[in-house]
Amino acid sequence: MIFGIPLKRVNWITSSFLILTALLAFTATPWYIWNHGIDLFQASLFFFYFCATGFSITLGYHRNFSHLSFKAKWPVRLFTLIFGAAAFENAALDWCSDHRKHHKHVDHDDDPYDITKGFFHAHIGWLLFRLHPLPPMDNVADLRRDSLVMWQYRWCQWIAVTVGFILPAAMGWMYGGPQAALGAFLIAGVARVVFVQHMAFFINSLCHTIGKQPYSTKHTARDSPLMAILTYGEGYHNYHHEFQHDYRNGVKPWQFDPTKWIIWSLNKVGLTSNLRRVPEDRILLAEATEARLQLDARLSCSKTQLSDKTRELLQASHDALSNLSQIISERHQEYLRATEKHLEHSKEIIEELRHELHLAIKRLAQVPIPVHVLS
Ligand SMILES: [Zn+2]
Ligand SMILES: [Zn+2]
Repeated sequence: MIFGIPLKRVNWITSSFLILTALLAFTATPWYIWNHGIDLFQASLFFFYFCATGFSITLGYHRNFSHLSFKAKWPVRLFTLIFGAAAFENAALDWCSDHRKHHKHVDHDDDPYDITKGFFHAHIGWLLFRLHPLPPMDNVADLRRDSLVMWQYRWCQWIAVTVGFILPAAMGWMYGGPQAALGAFLIAGVARVVFVQHMAFFINSLCHTIGKQPYSTKHTARDSPLMAILTYGEGYHNYHHEFQHDYRNGVKPWQFDPTKWIIWSLNKVGLTSNLRRVPEDRILLAEATEARLQLDARLSCSKTQLSDKTRELLQASHDALSNLSQIISERHQEYLRATEKHLEHSKEIIEELRHELHLAIKRLAQVPIPVHVLS
């Protein structure tokens, strides 16, 4: 231990890579741009790599391989494995194993990027210092049967260096000789890696720190439109932790989730299928229940500070939410029972229940949920 740093636990290769690329991105890349400028070729190459590697992590590593939230044809899987490697975030097999542990043990010791150990640990510290002994990768048996995943696992570092650094430099060379090759290496290679990596790291740090918790307060994950912009749509993290198998993170139609839009678009051209969605009534029920719980907490701890009028308003909202949660819950159960015993029920009864459920959901949508304003 030197200056409080546990030297024996330092992951030297990863630490050196993360520090060196960050140093180059903040010194050599601005130096190059200052001296040679940035033309359309360099800007386009950066943009392509920024999107290809970033979405390969969110769409490929995260929503497809970790959560199996949709099925993808081999061209999509191959593309996301190749450009996912070029994001220098390890092989998909390692990434998914860590991520599945994160969901299973969120905010506890076995969560690899446990936010309760501090912001630095969740953001990057867990990568700089390795655990002794390394936890087993015993939660990715399904992925081990995937020949493309295992091919990428074996060759990951080679693919990463070739596609992430050598290929953009070679394209730069073909475009404008050695100077353009250096520019492409520093801008589309090094600076892009640093941006994409830290945007992914934000999901583990900032997405467990800033934003609201409309679906659950059982974990630290939060929803934030700002984080969604910075993380390719992954910023609706409270929803994601509550319903991890949904292919959408921004579940409302207006929420910024380009990863969801790409999955949906690929579905339209036959490259993805079986897109998993949580039924709307379950989502609304979770929102209503959580809003009620947060109102309960608010009412019980602020009794002395609230004016009579405010308390009356909160109480009325609370009662309305309780009633509607109850109705949705009952109707949902009835609907499920009727669907199960389909043959014993006439079509009219099922239709009637579906209509009642729909009405209850509509009424809930009209009730203002004050917790969004209060929290
Ligand atoms: Zn998380
Ligand atoms: Zn996840």
